[in-house]
Amino acid sequence: PVSAPGPAGGHHGHDFDLVVVGAGPGGYAAAFRAADLGLNVALVERWPTLGGVCLNVGCIPSKALLHAARVIDEAHAAADFGVHFGAPRIDVPRLRDWKDGIVGRMTRSLTTLAKQRKVAVIHGTAKFTGPHELAIDDGAGNRRVSFDRCIIAVGSESVRLPGLPDDPRIIDSTAALELDVPERLLVIGGGIIGLEMATVYDALGTKVSVVELTDGLMPGCDRDLVRPLQKRIAGRYDRILLGTRVAAVEPTADGLQVRFEGAQAVEPQVYGKVLVAVGRAPNGGRIEAGAAGVQVTERGFIPVDKQMRTSVPHIFAIGDVVGQPMLAHKATHEGKVAAEAAAGLKSFFDARVIPSVAYTDPEIAWVGLTETEARVGGVAFEKATFPWSASGRSQALGRSEGFTKLLFDPQSHRVVG
Ligand code: FAD
Repeated sequence: PVSAPGPAGGHHGHDFDLVVVGAGPGGYAAAFRAADLGLNVALVERWPTLGGVCLNVGCIPSKALLHAARVIDEAHAAADFGVHFGAPRIDVPRLRDWKDGIVGRMTRSLTTLAKQRKVAVIHGTAKFTGPHELAIDDGAGNRRVSFDRCIIAVGSESVRLPGLPDDPRIIDSTAALELDVPERLLVIGGGIIGLEMATVYDALGTKVSVVELTDGLMPGCDRDLVRPLQKRIAGRYDRILLGTRVAAVEPTADGLQVRFEGAQAVEPQVYGKVLVAVGRAPNGGRIEAGAAGVQVTERGFIPVDKQMRTSVPHIFAIGDVVGQPMLAHKATHEGKVAAEAAAGLKSFFDARVIPSVAYTDPEIAWVGLTETEARVGGVAFEKATFPWSASGRSQALGRSEGFTKLLFDPQSHRVVG
C-alpha cells in the first residue's frame, strides 16, 4: 500500500512495517500474506525451525504416526478377508526417522518460502518493550526491533497437571511423539490429542489405558458420534476410566504407580509412561504484552475483534493465543485476515463454522451446530442419520460401524450441522 521503505527498512521509520511473533500456522501464514501485499515483514521465532507446534510437534508428526498405525491395523484386519501378513516387525528408530523426515521437509520448505518473499526470519524469544518495539533474545544477547504494526502468534503449550512428581516417564504430547514405546501407557485426558496418541501407541503394541475426568470421551463432540470410537477402543485398550481422576503418581523402580479417584477408579496401577494430555494453555502471558498496552486475560488469552486487532489497534493477535478452537486451520485463516487488515484491507474473520477432526480410528469429524449445543441453546432442528452399515463403500472397507448425521433448520431445511 505504501511506495518505498523508510530509512530503517519499514515505511514509517521503523525497522519493519510488520513484525510477526511466532512462526506457527498462524504466524507464517500472516507473514507470507503480508509480504505478498507489499509490506516489509519480519518473522520472529524462538525455535530453530519454522512451523510452530503444528509442523514440529503437533498435527504433522502425529498424522504421520497415525498413518503408520492405520497401516498396521489394516494389515491385521485383512485376515478377515483372507489376506494374511503375519505380525508386524516395527523398527521404531526407522519409524521415528521417517516422521522426522516429513517434519524436516515441511519446515525447510517454509524457510524457502520466507526467503522467496523476502520475509526476514529472526530467531529468538520476543518480548514487548513498548507499543512499537520488541526485545529479541537469541541466547547470546538482546536485539531491539521496531515495528509499525505487529501480529502476535505465540500459540499455546501443554497444560501440566499440578501435583505430579518430576519424572521423565511423565510425558506430554511432544515427548510422546518421540516414540519411546512402553509396555503400558496411561493417557490422562480423553480429548482429541490424548486419544490420537492412544491410537498410535495401541497400534505399536502398547497396552493403553485412558483416564478422563468428565463422564465421556472427547468433550465437545456429540455423544452418539463418539460411540463407534468408544466401542472399538473399549475392546482393545486395557481400561477406559470415565468420571475418574488421577489422585497421585508415585515413581517406583518398575514404573509409575498411579492412584485413581472417582466413578470408575480401580486399584493402583503401574505404567511405564504416563502421558498428560489435559489441554493446552495460551502463551499470551509470556511476552510482556502490557509494555505495549495489549490486554491479556488472566489465563493468557489475548482478546481480539473481528479484524484480529487487540486492545491496541496496530497490534493484532491470531491462533491458539486468541482462543478456542485451538486448530491449525483456524490459526491460518486468522493469520490471513490479520495480515490483510494490517495492510489496510477490509478483511474480517467471518467464518460461520470451523470443522473439527479427530484422526482416531475410527475418525470423528464434525462441523457447525452440534446436537448438544442445539439442545442446550434451545435451537430447533431436525435430524437425519445414515448408518454406514447401509453403505456399500463402508461394507467394502470392512468398516461399517460409523454413521453420518445431518442437522437441519426445520423451516428452511438448510443444513446447520
Ligand atoms: P503455534 O503453532 O503454537 O506456534 C507458535 C509459535 O510461536 C511457536 O513456534 C513458538 O515457538 C513461537 N513463540 C512463542 N512465544 C514466542 C516468543 N515470545 N518469541 C518468539 N517466538 C515465540 N490442529 C489441527 O487443526 N489439526 C490437527 O490434526 C492437530 N493436531 C495436533 C496434534 C498435537 C499433538 C498438538 C499438540 C496440536 C495439534 N493441533 C492440531 C493444534 C495445532 O497444532 C495448533 O492449533 C496450531 O499449531 C496453532 O497455531 P499457532 O500459529 O496459533 O501457534
